Amino acid sequence: MLNCKKAEPILVVGSVALDTVQTPFGQAKEVLGGSATYFALAASLFTPVRLLSVVGQDFPRKYLRRLQLHSIDLAGLQVLPGKTFRWTGRYRENMNEAETLSVCQNVLGQFPEIPAHYRESRFVFLANTDPLTQLKTLEAIEAPQMVACDTMNLWIRTQKTVLKKLLRKVNILIVNDSEARMLTGKVNLPTAVWALLAHGPKTVIVKKGEHGVFLCTNGELFAVPAYPLHQVVDPTGAGDSFAGGFLGYLASQPRFTPREIRRATVYGTVVASFTVEDFSTRRLEKITLKDVETRFQEMKRILKF
Ligand code: AMP
Repeated sequence: MLNCKKAEPILVVGSVALDTVQTPFGQAKEVLGGSATYFALAASLFTPVRLLSVVGQDFPRKYLRRLQLHSIDLAGLQVLPGKTFRWTGRYRENMNEAETLSVCQNVLGQFPEIPAHYRESRFVFLANTDPLTQLKTLEAIEAPQMVACDTMNLWIRTQKTVLKKLLRKVNILIVNDSEARMLTGKVNLPTAVWALLAHGPKTVIVKKGEHGVFLCTNGELFAVPAYPLHQVVDPTGAGDSFAGGFLGYLASQPRFTPREIRRATVYGTVVASFTVEDFSTRRLEKITLKDVETRFQEMKRILKF
């Protein structure tokens, strides 16, 4: 059974959003979303989470209450004059890649004030947001010990120099396959992973949607398929939920051995499998560690040969 006694708090910086999403299974309007939101809910299954972000005055109070129910520290979630970040996206039959229909940055461009106790965090996740905000946050942390980061095509296109500076300071990079190719210019995925390792991170994790994840850590390769689901309703947030399960598990363990990194990859995979079963964070908010553990044991059987 999973033991989370150590449970280091994780600081996450990223977006808290109102998402509008269309998939072949329907649509959801102005629902709770954002990279930091999915990460925080997923990681909070294993360990305390400190959320750093900004929302506008239109951000529904009920969403704040729902985050509080998961004991997520919201001291660093600032409510600023203006509107909350909004993302509208669509998935067609191939649910692997979101098509962004519109993005309204609104208050998200403003840097949040970092509460004093957040600066003591040793675990940090730089969820998808602009690389300058990611870098500024990291520079404000006193003694980060385990830093992971994500990014997206927009930032690779527009802020590659800052992104490369950031990569020199992170331990773990978590990106999807198209981002790995775009960042390195390498089409072959293992070649892209080696090229990313040369930029600084000791561990690179490439997410391949329904095909699972591919990981390289300290020269060792590992791959995990996605948990086999009969129906994916909305893939939004799968990547952030993976990262939350992955880093949340690691933060709850006393050591980061290659074995723990492999187990963390499976925990991340399992947590993401719940997220995609419904729109927004609905399913993710309802699960417990016991549900996670049941699918983890199933994955163990699936992966054994
Ligand atoms: P994922 O499906 O894991 O890649 O993440 C989806 C989440 O990313 C959605 O809830 C969006 O609100 C958020 N998102 C989309 N575009 C951006 C952006 N440019 N900056 C920050 N967050 C974003």
